[in-house]
Amino acid sequence: MPRTPPRSAAVPHQQLGFDGMPERLFVCTPSKLGSYADCPRRYRYTYIDRPSPQKGPPWAHNSLGASVHTALKNWYALPVDRRGTAPVASLLKSTWVREGYRDVDQERIAYRKALGWLDTYVAGLDPQEEPLGVERVVATKTAVLAFNGRADRIDARDGEAVIVDYKTGRTGLDADDARGSQALALYAYAAQRVFRRPCHKVELHHLPTGTVATHEHTEESLNRQLARAEATARDIIAAEKSMAAGADPDDEFPTNPGSLCAWCDFRKSCPAGAEVQAKEPWAAIEHLERTT
Ligand code: SF4
Repeated sequence: MPRTPPRSAAVPHQQLGFDGMPERLFVCTPSKLGSYADCPRRYRYTYIDRPSPQKGPPWAHNSLGASVHTALKNWYALPVDRRGTAPVASLLKSTWVREGYRDVDQERIAYRKALGWLDTYVAGLDPQEEPLGVERVVATKTAVLAFNGRADRIDARDGEAVIVDYKTGRTGLDADDARGSQALALYAYAAQRVFRRPCHKVELHHLPTGTVATHEHTEESLNRQLARAEATARDIIAAEKSMAAGADPDDEFPTNPGSLCAWCDFRKSCPAGAEVQAKEPWAAIEHLERTT
């Protein structure tokens, strides 16, 4: 099903409210904007409806990703002379998230894989190189947005800030993924302002394959991504206002059925998702068992 046409194409954004007061800024993270772009209904379930509809069970791939991210964060918190491969196993063990796996055997395989990825990745890092930030929140404001987001890592290289995002999914990523990521572009936009230095390069570090997908933004491409984010924010603001004025919430936040439904936490509560065959919580990591 085609994506819902952007409301902002038809409804021009008003910078001033009815009484001439400025509109409130739309407070957002990249995942909040991405959620609406993927499916307005899922956005409503996540950010507006209270109580929020009940979510499905936890996903093993989220547990795996969170475990690896936290281990890397804690690795950088070690004193420089301890930043080698030796502490990796204990770091991973202490932050390991157990939810979502089919059974203990599958969890063990995932743990061993993650440990291997981390060992290889950490061996390629320079312990002396202190990033500008690790899991660092960067925030900035525009005429429409009050943006904040937590970047996995922000490196300092040749006088510039570089955005690094860790990935643990099944498939490797390429330069198009790095170029197209709105989240990375918004981090770069915000990092320029927070650190008062240029930030154009964004990188996706795929730990399972040890590959890095890179894109070098220009000011124009960062501004284009920002304009898209602002257009999404205007769409959301308009939908929320219509809903508050009495419009049908289901019309203002329509479903967007597609391949994402099988992975949606709200599948059971959503009329479109209820018809979709559910994925097992461990479906996205089953391939790890076939490559042991
Ligand atoms: S199940 Fe599909 S259509 Fe329903 S909220 Fe989730 S992603 Fe949207």
